[in-house]
This record gives sequence, C-alpha cells and structure tokens, in this order.
Amino acid sequence: KEKTLAMMKPDGLYGNYDDQIKKMVLDSGFSILREKRIQLDEHTARIFYAEHSSKSFFPSLVKYMTSGPVLVMVLEKENAVADWRNLIGPTDAEKAKVTHPHSIRALCGVSAERNCVHGSDSIQSALREISFFFVKSLAS
Ligand code: ATP
Repeated sequence: KEKTLAMMKPDGLYGNYDDQIKKMVLDSGFSILREKRIQLDEHTARIFYAEHSSKSFFPSLVKYMTSGPVLVMVLEKENAVADWRNLIGPTDAEKAKVTHPHSIRALCGVSAERNCVHGSDSIQSALREISFFFVKSLAS
C-alpha cells in the first residue's frame, strides 16, 4: 500500500486538534504506521522546505514551523498521497473554510501560512519526507 508523510504543524498541536485530526485520519481509512513529536530547529525547517527558499514568505514560514513542536506521521492506505491531500484541503486555510468546509485545514487552519497540517505532494516527495524523519526501511 502507498505511504505518505503527514504533519501536524505547531498551530495544530497548540490548538489541541491532534485527537480530532487523528480520528479523521482513522475514519478515512488510513493506518498510522509511525508517529513522533519533535521540535524542528531552524536548520531542519529550512531543509524540509528548501524548495520554497526563494519565496518571500520563507523566513516567516521557518519561524512558524519552529514556533513549537510538530507531530510527524507515516500514513498508509491505497492512494494515500492524493487522499491525504484531499482530506487536508487547499493550502490557504481561509479559502478552505469556504470551498472545502469539511477539510482539516478548514477546521484548524487560519491563513495561507498557518494551515495546521502538511501532506506530501507526490509519491516521490513522500519517499523523501518519510526518510527525512524516519528510518529508511519504512520509505520503500
Ligand atoms: P505543505 O507543503 O505544508 O503541505 P502545500 O503543499 O499545500 O503545503 P506549499 O505551496 O508547498 O503548500 O507551501 C508550503 C507551506 O508554505 C504552506 O503549507 C504554508 O504553510 C506556506 N505558504 C504557502 N504559500 C504561502 C503564502 N502565499 N503565504 C504564506 N505562507 C505560505
């Protein structure tokens, strides 16, 4: 079965949305293979989001992502990558509240930056991100 990397960002954990989000994860048919709560340091956050390093919002994104602990999870199901992206909804949480009111970002996000969860955007990204946070054997 396919695997993806999911993350509850600092605002997701601060808001105590973790139990509610986990319930949505399990109700949608995902298995949680691994999970760990970590505090990202600036270096790690910069590497994780390296593809956005030239964007104007990058410094603010790094500050946000290091503002508190995150919960990273390896999720598994058929079509996990696309299904998790569908469940979290669009990047801009403010828009998600209007266009995707049942999405996770509509539930706990507040803006284009503070969108409370992450999901790998392709199978290739999922492999990179899973091995970024967890031992390699789970990525294949
Ligand atoms: P993620 O990679 O976190 O799952 P995504 O794939 O929906 O999110 P990306 O375009 O990869 O969105 O952006 C990565 C993150 O950068 C977003 O989740 C958000 O926190 C932040 N971000 C994206 N666009 C903006 C923006 N216009 N202004 C502020 N922050 C932004």
